[in-house]
Amino acid sequence: MLNIWFAAGSHNWPDYALPLDEAFRAAGLDVRLSATPPADPATVDYIIYAPGGDVDDFAPLTRVKLVQSLWAGVERIVGNASLTQPLARMVDQGLSEGMVEWVTGHVLRHHLGMDRHIVNPTHIWDHSPPPLARDRHIGILGMGALGAASARALQGLNFRVTGWSRTEKRLEGLTCLHGAEGLDRILHQADMLVLLLPKTPETENILNARAFALMKRGMVILNPGRGALIDDAALLSALADGTVAHATLDVFRVEPLPADHPFWAHPRVTVTPHIAADTRAPSAARIVAENIARVERGEAPLHLVDRTRGY
Ligand code: NDP
Repeated sequence: MLNIWFAAGSHNWPDYALPLDEAFRAAGLDVRLSATPPADPATVDYIIYAPGGDVDDFAPLTRVKLVQSLWAGVERIVGNASLTQPLARMVDQGLSEGMVEWVTGHVLRHHLGMDRHIVNPTHIWDHSPPPLARDRHIGILGMGALGAASARALQGLNFRVTGWSRTEKRLEGLTCLHGAEGLDRILHQADMLVLLLPKTPETENILNARAFALMKRGMVILNPGRGALIDDAALLSALADGTVAHATLDVFRVEPLPADHPFWAHPRVTVTPHIAADTRAPSAARIVAENIARVERGEAPLHLVDRTRGY
């Protein structure tokens, strides 16, 4: 019997207890699943982790074969010096679907100029049709699980999509750039920019004053990645000087976004409260069980985090 510790927070336990139980049965695993910290940490075989959960010191968990995160972003655990066990992040169809819906919804809002028709108190008949999607350049920074799924969905709506990643990529029908030169090109070309990078030392403040200076006037920024990807002060300056027409932000350096943060009151900033893509317990539970089953079969777990890269 495998001892599995659900160290992903007691607030998450009611959502996960049953789906995990079902998923472990379906995977043919005989497990003892508990949300209570173990009396003897050296008896735990697997940990299910989420930020804000119940484990900080991984050193006593000497038998653990895998720490499985329920979150796709792992910046809050990847630098933990006590963590020597393998760490897997969450890659799940439910997450991708949520992100695709958030990204396409907010891109279409700005593309179609919906705001001026939805809120039109003086009843202005503004007959200025938007361009077709085929004439709109969308740049996506980060072409991993979520960036690539969003790119495909936008491509399906006819947008001109260019992606950017750390390593070179070939995705049919999509222009994929990488490296410093690729970043400058995408910043220069895009009408809208979607940030789907992980937070790492390399990506922090990637949208800084220099980056904003390369952008077209009237740019739209969509950030469902991580708050730290953007230098907040540089974004506020870019909004003030017209470089950025609108920023739709789902993630922030401090969450919940403090009540006095200027983003809340800014007329051209939309704040969504980290809802772009939530991990859904039923599908995530299946991913957890499948990954543990792989390890039990002697196979490498899926979606391992590379500590040196930070994601
Ligand atoms: P992946 O790890 O699959 O993809 C990350 C992408 O970023 C990869 O294409 C990677 O390049 C690229 N990248 C990383 N570092 C660099 C760099 N230094 N320069 C250029 N490109 C880089 O992650 P996911 O797509 O699953 O998730 C992306 C992020 O989305 C998460 O880290 C998390 O922060 C955020 N997220 C937000 C949610 C929300 O609700 N708002 C929900 C879930 C996730 P390469 O392909 O070459 O490795």
